[in-house]
Amino acid sequence: MTTMTATTDNEATTSLHDVRRATQTFPLAGRAKDLVGSLIDSSTSLLASQSHDIVRFAMGSPADEAVPAEEFRQIAGEILDNSSFTYGATEGEPRLLQLLVDYLATTPDPSSHERLVITTGGMQGLDLACKLFVDPGDLVVVESPTYTNGSATALSYGAQLLEIPTDEDGMLVDQLEDLVSHTHKTPKAIYTIPTFQNPSGVTMSEERRRELLRLAHKWGSVIIDDDPYGLLRFAGTDIPTFQTLSPQDPLLFSVRTFSKILAPGWRVGWVDADPALRQLLINGKQAMDTCTNVPNQHIVAEYIARGGLEDHLAGLRTLYRERKDAMVESIRTHLGDRVTTTDPEGGFFLWVTLQGEFAEIDTRELFERALADGVAFIPGPALSPGGRFRNAMRLCFASSTPARIDEGIRRLTGTLETMARE
Ligand code: PMP
Repeated sequence: MTTMTATTDNEATTSLHDVRRATQTFPLAGRAKDLVGSLIDSSTSLLASQSHDIVRFAMGSPADEAVPAEEFRQIAGEILDNSSFTYGATEGEPRLLQLLVDYLATTPDPSSHERLVITTGGMQGLDLACKLFVDPGDLVVVESPTYTNGSATALSYGAQLLEIPTDEDGMLVDQLEDLVSHTHKTPKAIYTIPTFQNPSGVTMSEERRRELLRLAHKWGSVIIDDDPYGLLRFAGTDIPTFQTLSPQDPLLFSVRTFSKILAPGWRVGWVDADPALRQLLINGKQAMDTCTNVPNQHIVAEYIARGGLEDHLAGLRTLYRERKDAMVESIRTHLGDRVTTTDPEGGFFLWVTLQGEFAEIDTRELFERALADGVAFIPGPALSPGGRFRNAMRLCFASSTPARIDEGIRRLTGTLETMARE
């Protein structure tokens, strides 16, 4: 594993030093050395400690004004009763599960009680998937670039990761068989973010989804289908999900979350998986946290029960479309053909690759310099387990206003131009 850092050298050295010291001092389990820190999160922590004005394209967080805070405050004040203060069912609060089943019935991918387990965010869904399916040495296929907090979860269970390149239509599934054959292993799991991918914003085509399903069945691999952004389509037409293409498929393990559509701080998500896995999921989750925070589940449930979710989603789509358009426009104006960018039809992120006079700039170095100039993003190597994409970066358009987006891209352009001159 290449260790990449978006933090300062000092911090990176300190954290490596801490890990080494822990290894020497404690009788650590073998897997502890595979606990790679999240570079997405460490950039975020670094940002939290900065006091100057920074345009924040780094975090994948919903816009402050996209969170129905006033309704949450009102609901929180009203719903807390005695039942909220005790342990809840590991699989989730019955009211939330029922409302979720009702809500999913209005989408192309209905589900049922025996398939659903409420989780502590999407992250816990990913952890449960790996807990159930990944043994040390198992091959897990990931997209390149990918959401490295997800791939780090697989690593923490000892997975061997195989990065598969992507283009505008998602994972290059036509290369998958060949790349897998070189490992002399059969993938245990395929981790994909098929729709408005984090970090690139691209969406896997229907043809590739069908082919991926075919290969998963050929190999008996589980598809860990991580889709936090699918409900946030603001342009183009829907592409059928894996669930739509292959309903009730036992090899599909769907990880979902309210983080991007309501608020990440609630830490409420869900897993939709084959009923035969449910008891194992419950047993696995019991050992992690007994149950997801009960009051938070009630708040989310009450919000859905009041019927505002559809209107809220419609509002988010309008907001994020405007912001994505603003970012693409600013990039074209300030950076022109010195970069290429994806142009997503939904979600939070776009992916910028440096070209021409900027092509040799390392975005890890750019990160440090741009931060000082007041703009933050996630450098490409933080989004690839092998540290690829030195000349690329993830920009989140969701959390800044169009005026701030333009200011941020202007600052970034200034930093790039200075570095290119040196
Ligand atoms: N998967 C992807 C692709 C994500 O972008 C995120 C959040 N950034 C998660 C999972 C984790 O979601 P949660 O915050 O609900 O744990």
